Amino acid sequence: MKRRSFISKVAATGAASAVLGAPLSASAQEKAKSTTVTLLGTGTPAPSLERAGSGYLIEVGDDRIVWDHGPDAHHRLLQTGTRAVDITHAFFTHLHYDHCMDYGRLVLQRWDQGADKIPELNVYGPQPIARMTELLFGEEGVYGPDIRARRLHQSSIDVFTARGGNAPRKRPAPIVKEIKPGDEIKGKNWTSKVGKATHVQPFLDCLAFRLDAPDGSLCYTGDSGKSDEIVELAKGCDILIHMNHYFSGRAPSPAYRAACGNHKDNAEVAQKAGVKTLVLTHLLGQIDQPRVREQIVHEIQETFDGKVVWGEDLMKLRFAGPVIPDIEGGY
Ligand SMILES: [Zn+2]
Repeated sequence: MKRRSFISKVAATGAASAVLGAPLSASAQEKAKSTTVTLLGTGTPAPSLERAGSGYLIEVGDDRIVWDHGPDAHHRLLQTGTRAVDITHAFFTHLHYDHCMDYGRLVLQRWDQGADKIPELNVYGPQPIARMTELLFGEEGVYGPDIRARRLHQSSIDVFTARGGNAPRKRPAPIVKEIKPGDEIKGKNWTSKVGKATHVQPFLDCLAFRLDAPDGSLCYTGDSGKSDEIVELAKGCDILIHMNHYFSGRAPSPAYRAACGNHKDNAEVAQKAGVKTLVLTHLLGQIDQPRVREQIVHEIQETFDGKVVWGEDLMKLRFAGPVIPDIEGGY
């Protein structure tokens, strides 16, 4: 079986065991229904083959949501077995390039492969995301000539028709909504609240997101230093994904600390918010090494009572933590 048809079959049934004919166990069915968040990119603007630019995939009910889509986050998305056409919503915290560079790839690959048979992508982000979208995909946009060629050249029309599309082909037209702190977006069985991050205002509007699903709550700071607004937004969440850019005490300036926070600041935020698990992300290579990372986790746990996770690309988390089996327990 080709990889793509295998992936779509797995996606349709919810678990590999069903593909093989075995009925899903009760716990596997419960798992298939539960919300998951996959860390697509846990890196920074610094080039890295280990850590992609910021990106997160949330699978909740039938929806597939991405929060930020920085450089290489789309590659990681494909590694999860999720395709561009599967994504229903894209949210952006701010328009630093390490959080939005793969936006073009997501929209264009979704448009190309979707062959006008899937709904438009719902896009949410701070201003000027609408202008950025127009400048990328509009008639006079960066990809305007490419889109024109794919809509009008006979060879492209033939490919489009072979994919099941009916010519004339539509232009990519994401449904863009500019959002601000205090806004709420409602999905089928989830609600996303928009909060304020403390980062590089006034040059960029910077947001944080919370998502409440039937089985739990998740908060993502975007890029942010220590912030009472984040504490408020993340109150009682199962998981808080927080920027953890550098080691406390090593900030080159007060402005840097205010915009990016540090591990001890993050411990305070997580403790005040009363979250169950703190996931560290946006990790610089300088702190991503043995002994430093353990020291950071240890020092955070001196202040924060919950669990601490050192984020890695493609790490998949559910709201309920894993059950640790007995020594004789199977997998
Ligand atoms: Zn940023």
